[in-house]
Amino acid sequence: MNSKMDLSEILLYLELIKKEKKRKPLLKELNMMLYFLEDYDQVEEFHNKLIEKFTIYIPFRFLSEGLIHFIEDYEACVNLKNKILQTSSRKDSMLFMHQILLSETKEQAISIIKEAKEFEVELGEEWADNYDSMWRIKKNQDEWRRNIIEFSEYNLFSETYEDFYKMKLNYFESLSLNQLKETLLEKQTHNNNRKITQTTVYDRSVYIKEFARRVSNGICQLCEKSAPFLDKQGKPFLEVHHIHYLSKGGSDNMENVVAVCPNCHRKIHQLELEEDVKKISTRALENIGI
Ligand SMILES: [Zn+2]
Ligand SMILES: [Zn+2]
Repeated sequence: MNSKMDLSEILLYLELIKKEKKRKPLLKELNMMLYFLEDYDQVEEFHNKLIEKFTIYIPFRFLSEGLIHFIEDYEACVNLKNKILQTSSRKDSMLFMHQILLSETKEQAISIIKEAKEFEVELGEEWADNYDSMWRIKKNQDEWRRNIIEFSEYNLFSETYEDFYKMKLNYFESLSLNQLKETLLEKQTHNNNRKITQTTVYDRSVYIKEFARRVSNGICQLCEKSAPFLDKQGKPFLEVHHIHYLSKGGSDNMENVVAVCPNCHRKIHQLELEEDVKKISTRALENIGI
């Protein structure tokens, strides 16, 4: 399976199935999406988006057997647990167990066991010894990922992914270049008003990539040759490069991206030639005017 989604694509996928298919994500889809996320920041952003878009429609099994394993912050764990307890009549011992793993003292752990009892969840006194166990949380995450691969859900995901890819293509094809730019500018202004800038980067990145590819018209913006091949969907294969690297604080904006062939992309990173940077910077500025 060569399908791998990043968070930005996942957020778009959630938007598209809601808007175009008028349905909520399935358990197997949610599990796979979670599987692709890289760190807890991403998990949290994903979770916030789910709540924002689908509120109480998130399957209980996903919350209690999937998502909870990824929470590494005590407050976030308590918040999620409370939300689940409020919205579902089902209780899962994992909710309380995970909170114990994140608690700092044994006393705290004991009080969580007592609380669990009020919800008719019997944990057993010995569980109190598991407080402050980040290693166990990491182990649970690994186990969860392994399970996902072993389940057939993983194989089924290829289909889901193809489906998403088509939806994404159709969606972007339905947007004119101007609409694409407007969407990006909207997201940009909206984001500047929000405190957490990191999270909003994900939201935009899939649009920025589409913009860079769209304005390149299938021609590498450095060597000016046609893309070396067409992808499975018949689209010219070019890679999107950030002129000022994101890892060094560069922004995910229209003026900071170009689409280049894989060869040039490697050359840019390998040699970091001033003349190349100059050329692609000029191209990026021209792109905005297109
Ligand atoms: Zn090139
Ligand atoms: Zn690059």
